Amino acid sequence: MFQKDSTYINYIIENFTNITPLFIDNNYVKEYCELCKVTMGFEIDTVPIPAEKKHLVLKTPQPLLLTCPVCHSFKIWIVQNIFLRGNDNIGSIQRYRIMSIPKEQPDIPEMPGKPHYLKKLYIEGVKCLEAGCPIAAAVIFKRAIHVLTRELLGATPGTLMSEFRSIINKRNKLGVVLHETFKNNPYLEKESSISDTKDSIHGHDIILFTDEDAYTLHEIFVELIVMLFVLPNSVNQAREHLLTKKSTERDQQIY
Ligand SMILES: [Zn+2]
Repeated sequence: MFQKDSTYINYIIENFTNITPLFIDNNYVKEYCELCKVTMGFEIDTVPIPAEKKHLVLKTPQPLLLTCPVCHSFKIWIVQNIFLRGNDNIGSIQRYRIMSIPKEQPDIPEMPGKPHYLKKLYIEGVKCLEAGCPIAAAVIFKRAIHVLTRELLGATPGTLMSEFRSIINKRNKLGVVLHETFKNNPYLEKESSISDTKDSIHGHDIILFTDEDAYTLHEIFVELIVMLFVLPNSVNQAREHLLTKKSTERDQQIY
């Protein structure tokens, strides 16, 4: 039970994940569609709050209906909006996800089974995000990205930015050419700027992970999996489909 609004707000902040970075604006949220196999803006629909009930918004979670604009599959998030005033005294609405329906069940079937811990890292990372543990999630996703860059693609160990630069535009161990460096990514720039500092050398940089870093690292990992495994797989399927079609057409001409 909560006796004060402030206790409720602190409870939400401490126990749930701030998902504000996922919102493109009030109408779209950035999400990976498991059917379309791509990250895109899901459309947001919500139930309007009558003007006389507006005071409840601050302490009543709102259901958001999120719909993929392409395949129209949907999910529901229960979100608590909290108005927070920053150090500069300028306030902003922060959104905390209380629940997802269905529960977030991380699964990208195209993800390789080897090394066996890759899938495990991804699943645990998503669970940490769900449970409101962004530092743990960020550490896990960063490790998972290194598994891809170093172990599967043969990058020279360094910061993520330097690892991406070392494997870009080259045919890598998987036979795929990556063209993406994620160069405008805020986390990669931040990591590069602290990589030689005392914090980084002593491993204290993990306490600098923000909620946004956790989502950014999650997004990079998913994008890499899509580029390395999902897209080549669909290209192969399309090629096989075309070849089968052509050979059937040839057979039909012969008979
Ligand atoms: Zn879709």
